[in-house]
Amino acid sequence: MTESLEMYLETISLLHDRMRIARVTDIAAELGVSKPSVHAALHELERRGLARHEHYGEVHLSAEGREAAAEIRGRHELLAAFLREVVGVSPQTAERDGCRIEHYLSEETMERIKALAGEALSRKGPAGEGE
Ligand SMILES: [Zn+2]
Repeated sequence: MTESLEMYLETISLLHDRMRIARVTDIAAELGVSKPSVHAALHELERRGLARHEHYGEVHLSAEGREAAAEIRGRHELLAAFLREVVGVSPQTAERDGCRIEHYLSEETMERIKALAGEALSRKGPAGEGE
């Protein structure tokens, strides 16, 4: 899947969580792109059986689309934690950079990052302790 299609899947899934609904206008606003761009991406997602686009503008993910989105969001969380806890950048930078590189890393690299982030987080102890 291309980086941009992954971004769309991630965004649709986030909007569903945040607002219980994902509409073409919301997706366009969230990604800062035009509605025609959203339509083009949605047709591609539809062709792959990942999303369904209703004529009134609502977008739904198929089971397969939800699974793919969860995978991408998992990578996002992990990379953000790694950049924050191991690399030591600010939470905002960790979020932004994590979301950019999440589309490019190999499984091998992700596995190592997972191990390192896991170590760093376990050293820190349960959330809320220390600081
Ligand atoms: Zn992301």
